[in-house]
Amino acid sequence: MRRLRERRGVRRAIAVFASGVLAVVLTAISNPVSASPTDYPWSVYPDRGAHTYCFGPAFAAYSALTSRAHYAMDDNDGVEAQTVVDTVFYSACSAATDVRFVETPIGGGAGGETQCVALNSAGYCDQWHVRIDWDVIREVASNDGYQARKTLCHEIGHSLGADHYLLSIESPDYPTQTCMISGLYDSGAAWTRTYGGFHRAHINTWF
Ligand SMILES: [Zn+2]
Repeated sequence: MRRLRERRGVRRAIAVFASGVLAVVLTAISNPVSASPTDYPWSVYPDRGAHTYCFGPAFAAYSALTSRAHYAMDDNDGVEAQTVVDTVFYSACSAATDVRFVETPIGGGAGGETQCVALNSAGYCDQWHVRIDWDVIREVASNDGYQARKTLCHEIGHSLGADHYLLSIESPDYPTQTCMISGLYDSGAAWTRTYGGFHRAHINTWF
């Protein structure tokens, strides 16, 4: 199995599916923080209200990703089912959309990345870009769809303010694991697409 690595920054988190040193370019206001798995948020608070989402132009061709992004947001077992957050899909992206999914090469073996690209006047994140490297997921995962689902749950969790944790750092819901663990977990087990009680409580309180 490949080793997985992630880095955190004030405005950027990357899920890396390969070994090696990763160079992370942080945006202007960044000061790398040493977050703990019990931190909330991982760096930036999201703006409140409906968590609207859309797909960037490159995303439409990847139906396997698109459907799983909807699953990760919807009211059957996605964000709406697990938290108080209302998610709304917009077929066209605009500056008012909270989460823009983009399928793109990320580099460094990263399978997913979430970045806040715009803060509102209150200092909360107004626009997130959730980038998924489908080629990397297909290369490293035994089950592409399950890993896509896990990665989407994880990256969306960052956009809701949740921090991630590592296998080497205890889960905030120990002994329960959640999709906020970093790395390759493509078993399809329910926990790989589930936020734990710790993060759900923080998300629900914030929203
Ligand atoms: Zn992460």
